[in-house]
Amino acid sequence: MENKRDYYEVLGVSKSASDDEIKKAYRTMARKYHPDVNPGDKAAEEKFKEAAEAYEVLSNPEKRQKYDQFGFNMGPQGFPGGGSQGGFYQSGGMSMDDIFSMFGDIFGDVSGGGGRYSGFGSATGGRQRRAQRKGSNLRIHVKLTLQDILNGTTKTLKIPTFVKCDHCNGTGAKDGTAFATCPQCHGSGSITQVQQTIFGVSQAHVECPRCNGTGKIITENCQYCRGTGVEKREQQITFTIPAGVEDGNVLTIKGKGNAPEHGGVNGDLLVVVDEIKHPELIRDGADVIYNLMLDIPTATLGGSVDVPTIEGRARLKIAPGTQPGKILRLRGKGLPNGQGGSAKGDELINVMVYVPEKLSDAERSAIESLKGSPNIQPSETEKQRLFSKFRHIFE
Ligand SMILES: [Zn+2]
Ligand SMILES: [Zn+2]
Repeated sequence: MENKRDYYEVLGVSKSASDDEIKKAYRTMARKYHPDVNPGDKAAEEKFKEAAEAYEVLSNPEKRQKYDQFGFNMGPQGFPGGGSQGGFYQSGGMSMDDIFSMFGDIFGDVSGGGGRYSGFGSATGGRQRRAQRKGSNLRIHVKLTLQDILNGTTKTLKIPTFVKCDHCNGTGAKDGTAFATCPQCHGSGSITQVQQTIFGVSQAHVECPRCNGTGKIITENCQYCRGTGVEKREQQITFTIPAGVEDGNVLTIKGKGNAPEHGGVNGDLLVVVDEIKHPELIRDGADVIYNLMLDIPTATLGGSVDVPTIEGRARLKIAPGTQPGKILRLRGKGLPNGQGGSAKGDELINVMVYVPEKLSDAERSAIESLKGSPNIQPSETEKQRLFSKFRHIFE
């Protein structure tokens, strides 16, 4: 190892220093060169690491003895995790994670069990890549008529959205550059927590609370977004709603929601379908239902009536002797089923016959003249035929 300083010299103690003296010396050094106290100071960082490495060895009786005996030239078998060049550490030295894991030891007096060294050879092994931040979703409601739903529709809306601040490129730092390495995690984005449990000492890598895992802190806020990295702006967005949607359906438009603070991926835009009730038609899945009220002469003699459809109106032929309760069907005048494809539902026409409640004298006598007339009453077989037809209503 090139130009390595003697560990005793690093900590400023004599070769015969007691464990307590070594600990005390390290504590002093660690406090002096701690990155929290010296943000962005590379020289302090090196001193901090150097002290930590020295303490790591000198605080361990076995390692200290080997160091006393062989110095830095111990060969690959020197220590677990010893580098192939014969040193204690692989090139790059200890990671900040390791050093902070030692703080539990030095400040909290957690006894370091054998487990503390088990992960020594893979200093970065426990570090996890932070999941990318995602902005919040936006939810809007879109009112659609049955005609919109029949054909599908394209909407262009202006939606107030948090978007990335252009001045800082969404970072929140002045000009997008006013950053320093996070002093708490020293840029790694995670810290190691050492906990004493009934099973012994456990270590956990957790997201650094100071920088929220980014490894960087802002030294001067962007003045336009006050350091948030986002600003609210009306965003014009055009989207297509496919045919056949139903009330309450939610369409997700990826990446059109809010931008997160301090950079990351946008949330989604959720478009909720609000179906506007048709004044005359009742939707039933892909079908629509229309309640048709026939007058007695038309139901009896037949004719043609005008009925509403989703797209306008249609002429409908009424056969003579059309009974109330009959369902007439306008094929293909319903809605697409929403699964794609061109198949459409029907318009179902539920026939009712209006029995008048108020009559003029002339109307009354006309009806009265029909009383007892042979075809006004159904025959027994005709009754059975009709009852069997509508039996489903009572079963
Ligand atoms: Zn940090
Ligand atoms: Zn900004």
